[in-house]
Amino acid sequence: MLKEIFDSLESRYDEMVSIRRYLHQNPELSFKEVNTAKYIKSFYDELGIEVRGNVGGNGVVAKVYGGKPGKTVALRADFDALPIQDEKDVPYRSLVPGVMHACGHDGHTATLLILAKTIHENRNELAGTFVFIHQHAEEYAPGGAASMIEAGCLDGVDAIFGTHLWALEPLGKIQYRTGPIMAAADRFEINIQGKGGHGAQPHNTKDAIVTASQLVINLQQIVSRRVNPVDSAVVTVGSFTAENAFNVIADKAKLIGTVRTFNEDTRTFIEEEIERVTYGTCYSTESTYKYDFVRGYPAVVNPSAETEFLISCAKNVPEVNIIEETEPHMGGEDFAYYLQKVPGNFFFTGASPANEEAVFPHHHPRFDIDERAMLIAAKTLGTAAIQYSLKAQEAVQV
Ligand code: MN
Repeated sequence: MLKEIFDSLESRYDEMVSIRRYLHQNPELSFKEVNTAKYIKSFYDELGIEVRGNVGGNGVVAKVYGGKPGKTVALRADFDALPIQDEKDVPYRSLVPGVMHACGHDGHTATLLILAKTIHENRNELAGTFVFIHQHAEEYAPGGAASMIEAGCLDGVDAIFGTHLWALEPLGKIQYRTGPIMAAADRFEINIQGKGGHGAQPHNTKDAIVTASQLVINLQQIVSRRVNPVDSAVVTVGSFTAENAFNVIADKAKLIGTVRTFNEDTRTFIEEEIERVTYGTCYSTESTYKYDFVRGYPAVVNPSAETEFLISCAKNVPEVNIIEETEPHMGGEDFAYYLQKVPGNFFFTGASPANEEAVFPHHHPRFDIDERAMLIAAKTLGTAAIQYSLKAQEAVQV
């Protein structure tokens, strides 16, 4: 059966590429993906596949019922783009100024649409139910996953699988990990209130720039001196604002940053620690502060049984020549929320462009993928869905 699925995926490779390129040329920002959602929904409508739009926002969920009893397996692809100007010189470059599919979500969508079409065509020979979750707004917290789950996209689902095409790993490689594979990604903002004044009379002021500068340095000791070294974490100040004339002492300053962690206790510890350091620093300069810690996505944590299962599925795919454990990524992903509800696996599919000069990191203005990775992703996800849906039957036979 898998052989037929693989053959029919291959015969639709050109269609997959043209879908991906259409989406690449017409990207939409998180929470604004109205046309992309319409495009996805009409793809299913035209095939006569049961599909629901506006699921928890712009989300789209389609369902295909196999001809035999079995488990219900969900596959997820995200479809939002980023506020980045596309600087690639390719015919399928973004047509929307300042907006770009710079993370490969266009590829995820094309992969899932063609896989769904193929599974639908072969549905009578297949077992169980297949749920295709097209998720909006992955790039921007609170994201689309949580609201789609609330709107019922996981109802009745026994397991979920998803992949990220990864442009920094070669074609043919699948990377997996049991336990945390992607970090919790949180955001903090610290507004420091000093006392402005004349640049020549510092003794009458409380210089917010000096306080904020000390604070940036003091925050560095959280990861280096307070977090257990075997537990990974990042505290980054990404923005420091205090605009003034050259002869004015700053009244206020603002720091914005991100925190990445893999474990909930460390996450909470750092949230509290930032406030303690801020309190102490501001105390020392007689300044005041306002501190906000905004929780983003939790860590993506893969259960071991489904990770082992995914590895066995990847071995079925002829084009997969390396299956290796990855180090955890410090990036965030709201796939985390699905795995908090049902078992499953999130893995990486190598997608490095063949031409080395075209290899750029995700979120780069010249980011691109080797489109053949979509076929590998479709085969791996397809195998996972089809094999997992049979698990119920095996249980009955025993
Ligand atoms: Mn992404």
